[in-house]
Amino acid sequence: MKTIGLLAGMSWESSIGYYRAINEGVKHSLGGLHSAKIAMYSVDFDPIEKLQHAGDWQATAEILSEAAKNVQSAGADVLLICTNTMHKVAPQIEAVIDIPLLHIADATAEVLISEGIKSVGLLGTAFTMEQDFYKGRLTEKYGLKVHVPSPEDRQTVHNVIYQELCLGKIQPNSKAEYLRIVDSLSSQGAEAVILGCTEIGMLISQQDTDVKLFDTTAIHAQKAVEFAL
Ligand code: GLU
Repeated sequence: MKTIGLLAGMSWESSIGYYRAINEGVKHSLGGLHSAKIAMYSVDFDPIEKLQHAGDWQATAEILSEAAKNVQSAGADVLLICTNTMHKVAPQIEAVIDIPLLHIADATAEVLISEGIKSVGLLGTAFTMEQDFYKGRLTEKYGLKVHVPSPEDRQTVHNVIYQELCLGKIQPNSKAEYLRIVDSLSSQGAEAVILGCTEIGMLISQQDTDVKLFDTTAIHAQKAVEFAL
């Protein structure tokens, strides 16, 4: 079994989901007392969130590049950045390590395509929903048609992520808002919706809606398990 490297803590609430899903995946495949070999570096999210919102992505890239080198030194055979948003600096991180990076948007697009989805809604931080590093990658590299919520709804989705989910707060009114937004993406023509932020699965899940959901945390974790085994 190969060792899975996790660049975690963004937020730690969602890193718990990665740790659980990866170990459950290995247990499911190998049985008994088998568990995943993981090297995790969990950052302090507060300074990173401040740099994101100040637009200083270069500084976030430097912090995460150092952390990624530490994950590699700890014996990881592969690196996962456990957040969709911080894939904005994936190229800078990839440049300082020798191990492969499993890109969360690639893993997600591959699953969508294997299920015949061509038109998809995207929920995530404003950075993820609006910028080319993510939305553009789905469109240009995979030919997917990507629907995002209205500007006002994007603000709601973004605020709930940083002001509630990353703090472990699950609010019924936010859940209702997210489900309303999922429905509106579906009425725009989305055949499915990507939960493109690693905390959203804490708020809504497949049992809440008839619209097909693709949870990036679950997909990314499964991809890591396949790599490791
Ligand atoms: N975990 C989130 C994501 O998947 C948001 C936190 C962050 O800004 O990294 O995008």
